[in-house]
Amino acid sequence: MSTLANLVQDLATGGIKVIDLTETLREDYPVISLPPEFKPAWSFKKEVVSEYNDDGPMWFWHNISLNEHTGTHFDAPIHWVSGKDLPNNAVDSIPARDFIAPACVVDCSDEVAADQDFLLTKERLMAWEDQHGEIPAGSWVFMRSDWRKVASPDNYANIIDDTAHHPGPDNECVHWMIEERDVLGFGTECIGTDAGIAMSFDPPLPCHYFMHGAGKYGLQCMTNLDLLPPTGAVIVCPPLKIEGGSGSPLRVLALVTS
Ligand code: MN
Repeated sequence: MSTLANLVQDLATGGIKVIDLTETLREDYPVISLPPEFKPAWSFKKEVVSEYNDDGPMWFWHNISLNEHTGTHFDAPIHWVSGKDLPNNAVDSIPARDFIAPACVVDCSDEVAADQDFLLTKERLMAWEDQHGEIPAGSWVFMRSDWRKVASPDNYANIIDDTAHHPGPDNECVHWMIEERDVLGFGTECIGTDAGIAMSFDPPLPCHYFMHGAGKYGLQCMTNLDLLPPTGAVIVCPPLKIEGGSGSPLRVLALVTS
């Protein structure tokens, strides 16, 4: 049997499970908050066009409006100034092949439960590798934080005294993932790939700055990373093909062997 025929059979028989890493896109979904001098993003809005009524007797549909970076979403290199001149840096020009890739899942849930400002370090990833093997080039690195159990339901961004408090990688860790492991990108269950306190780093938000400057991607606001194995999951995450788009909400699926 061909590899694809095996895949289809394993999906049908449950040998391969599909795990949804996506949060439901809804009007109260928080968007990232920026200092007041910067223009804020729209949050998600939807309004009924017709609902089997005079406006459309047999059909139901919505108009929607949203920022590209709303809900579970993908960050393209063009999102950041460091990636603005790279080739194939927008969601409509990134090679489609990059939207299917393996993931290394680093369980930081204990550390994040103890410290909402937890910073993922190179040493922590090297300790993960001691257990699970080297992070292969072209892999996602996903930081599992079980964030929905940590942040209060009405404060997903965990803003306390005007500062966001959520985990992310430190500057050195970002460089190591790029330069030593050539990862595909970095993914998180929090509202941004950078830690909340990383706005004060030099440069600010190094995961955005250096990852996108190196042509790499981000995934944010995921969920269910606790259902993934440390290695072996295959992530399917094609963003919307927005012309010149800097990112988009998307469905993130993981294929795992059961
Ligand atoms: Mn984003």
